[in-house]
Amino acid sequence: MQEVTIKKDNKIKLDTIFHSSLNPKFIFLPIKKGYDLLVEDNDYVYKNDKVLVSPLGSNIYSSISGRVLGIKEMTYFNGSTTTSLVIENDFKENIRKRCGARKYINNYTKEEFFDTLKKVSLHYKGNDTVSKIKKIESSFIVNCVELEPYFGNKYFILKKHIEEVLETIDLIDKITGNNKVLFVIKNNESELINELMNILGTYPNIELKLINDAYPNGRDEVLKKYFKLDLAQVIDVEEIYNIYEILKRGKPVTEKFITITGNAVNPSCIIKVKMGSLLSEIFTSHFDFTSKNVDVYINGLLGGELVHTLKYVVDSNIDGILIMEHTEIEKEACINCGICSKCCPMGLNPKYVFDHEGRVKPIYYEKCLQCGLCNYVCPSNIDLKSCMKGCRKNEKGIE
Ligand code: SF4
Ligand code: SF4
Repeated sequence: MQEVTIKKDNKIKLDTIFHSSLNPKFIFLPIKKGYDLLVEDNDYVYKNDKVLVSPLGSNIYSSISGRVLGIKEMTYFNGSTTTSLVIENDFKENIRKRCGARKYINNYTKEEFFDTLKKVSLHYKGNDTVSKIKKIESSFIVNCVELEPYFGNKYFILKKHIEEVLETIDLIDKITGNNKVLFVIKNNESELINELMNILGTYPNIELKLINDAYPNGRDEVLKKYFKLDLAQVIDVEEIYNIYEILKRGKPVTEKFITITGNAVNPSCIIKVKMGSLLSEIFTSHFDFTSKNVDVYINGLLGGELVHTLKYVVDSNIDGILIMEHTEIEKEACINCGICSKCCPMGLNPKYVFDHEGRVKPIYYEKCLQCGLCNYVCPSNIDLKSCMKGCRKNEKGIE
């Protein structure tokens, strides 16, 4: 696989000031298949109340206090339109029972650790974090590499909460049986590297691993391949920080960091938002377009999607919005240069799939990460990524 460094616009810089948008008028919580509603119209809910539960015990919590208005069809970034519970914010942040914060987290026993996480049913990007931790064998990877160019959620978490993150990794390590922990960050984050070098001496099992600032090195599958640890579990640094918050304060995860940046938006920053907020409300309350004609990408230019609305509900699948001045992209005929397959991190041949669309076996596309690197390198601007996605949707490959 040929490594690709993304050419960045040096004018795009993230604010160092931290922003938050924690007062949405309404929140929307998806009533997924099999989930039971625990509240009725007009009920009053407190912040952090459990409002939906699945038969397997996965819970969904309210990120605000306020009144249940009913249900409404809402759109989520994973492409689904889902009936959702609507709660109107009373802006009081009322909490039923304030849990005392625990002074240290390093004295959790294994039983207490899993019980505490189970109670709040921690899920991250569709995966059950507890199951992942239980599967840890001899090593695990902590992924601190941004998924997309210009995004800074992970960098921000480390800058602000490095001690908390390391303390949590150390506890997971102790609970899962003293493993080798690979703590992976980009090799150009010199300030963070220096800071880590000074602290890591007290955590002998945590090994700092540096990786090039190349795309898509932030993907879990790419890290596993890079470090030749195909069976290792990969835990995201945001997931680690969420675990810390649960163990320390006993509260469910109801907030999320997202990056809003680009060359056509002001400000350009990391912002903390409530789960269930509408992206459009966050945007209109805090941001402005600086150009009349913009392209908006949720989750980035390469692995994300170009969208025409921001009426999406925030969940853990949204990492950021990139807003760029509009550029016309002209598609041309394939020149058979082969660069798309040379660069694919999964060793796929997207050009072959493009040429045989609808007639290829799943083995040709099922491992596709939808990272968009093939689109980025293609000199003819062919949309290979959508073609790979289309195959998966249609599942009618026969060749
Ligand atoms: S989008 Fe899929 S086919 Fe294209 S480079 Fe990424 S993994 Fe390979
Ligand atoms: S990179 Fe583009 S032009 Fe080159 S082989 Fe692939 S599809 Fe064709």
